[in-house]
Amino acid sequence: MKPIEGVMTQTNAPRGIDPDSLFFVQVDATKCEACGTCEEHCATGAIQSINEEGIHQVVDPAACMNCGQCLVNCPYDAIYEGVSYVDEIFEKLKDPNTIVVSMPAPAVRYGLGECFGAPTGTYVGGQMHAALRQLGFNYIWDNEFTADVTIMEEGTELIQRVKEQGQKDARPLPQFTSCCPGWVKFAETFYPDLLPNMSSCKSPIGMLGPLAKTYGAEETHTPAQKIYTVSIMPCIAKKYEGMRPEMADSGFRDIDATIDTRELAYMIKTAGIDFNALPSQGPDPILGDSTGAATIFGNSGGVMEAALRLAYEVLSGQKLNNPDIKVVRTHEGINTADVKVPNFGTVKVAVASGLQNAAKLCDEVRAGKSPYHFIEIMTCPGGCVNGGGQPVDPEIRAS
Ligand code: SF4
Repeated sequence: MKPIEGVMTQTNAPRGIDPDSLFFVQVDATKCEACGTCEEHCATGAIQSINEEGIHQVVDPAACMNCGQCLVNCPYDAIYEGVSYVDEIFEKLKDPNTIVVSMPAPAVRYGLGECFGAPTGTYVGGQMHAALRQLGFNYIWDNEFTADVTIMEEGTELIQRVKEQGQKDARPLPQFTSCCPGWVKFAETFYPDLLPNMSSCKSPIGMLGPLAKTYGAEETHTPAQKIYTVSIMPCIAKKYEGMRPEMADSGFRDIDATIDTRELAYMIKTAGIDFNALPSQGPDPILGDSTGAATIFGNSGGVMEAALRLAYEVLSGQKLNNPDIKVVRTHEGINTADVKVPNFGTVKVAVASGLQNAAKLCDEVRAGKSPYHFIEIMTCPGGCVNGGGQPVDPEIRAS
């Protein structure tokens, strides 16, 4: 079996611990060649040289945004994850008294195939659903369902904020997106004064966890305490998000476990499943349906594009003939656009990919000089498709 780089196999999934005290990524000093690539990819200086040989280490877990960009860009495979639920999930899948629910994110289905020999970016959503069933998950409630819910909520909030400007107690503009946990932690740490600008919406997985244990439990006549929810993400920071103490709106832990794309591939290989021979299958109903707007969440600009589609139709009262708002799609840097909305005027938007770029837009907002209504920020360059939990590009290890 070909190993999956960056995957640790021992269970180390602490409960009830402040996630800010945990090392979600760490450097293996025996492999570190002191090249400094990790420092280049760290937006917050959380990873630094610690001795004369230049060996690197994450020096402060609270300053680490857990994005994992250091891990996927290290040429020497010297960075590993510090928290894994894989062994615990295998145990839960064997337990007849536990109903195990899988909740895969949009970008996972564009990264997973690479672990099984497909070209980068190949869509393998159908086989992913089939593999989850073969692994023994009782339900596949797809995170794309709540990506759509996020858009309805976040787009509606944007419309409300725009309309209430000039009124007493109006919430501030620009509104920031709130679905990327690396960005949310960055704002909490470095720009706490801008939190009123953050959308009040949870991320898609932040919504799906409690829905699984309330609506999903009710619809399937399953006691909520028997449900074990597994978030499957392109992302290491989502492990941090799942552990946040406030993620317990269902009356239980909303998200019991989080794994990333690499770990899902590891589980499929460990179970001996022939991934490439799997038929294409869909998710389970109840919390499984979604639209194309959910899928584009995986790319930088995708959340913005989906929210603008909603805002355009509500503000103008007109149908958007072409739903592609390509001008907001971006793979690097900062992208800005003026979107003309009939009967309203111009909606000014910005999309930032990477936290250094986020800081530039935040400084502008802090100085009262931001012209935008809505700003999307994703920690990983190009968005979640390039997340820290995705397969490692073999060319990076070869460089
Ligand atoms: Fe996670 Fe996506 Fe944010 Fe990267 S951009 S930290 S993958 S949510």
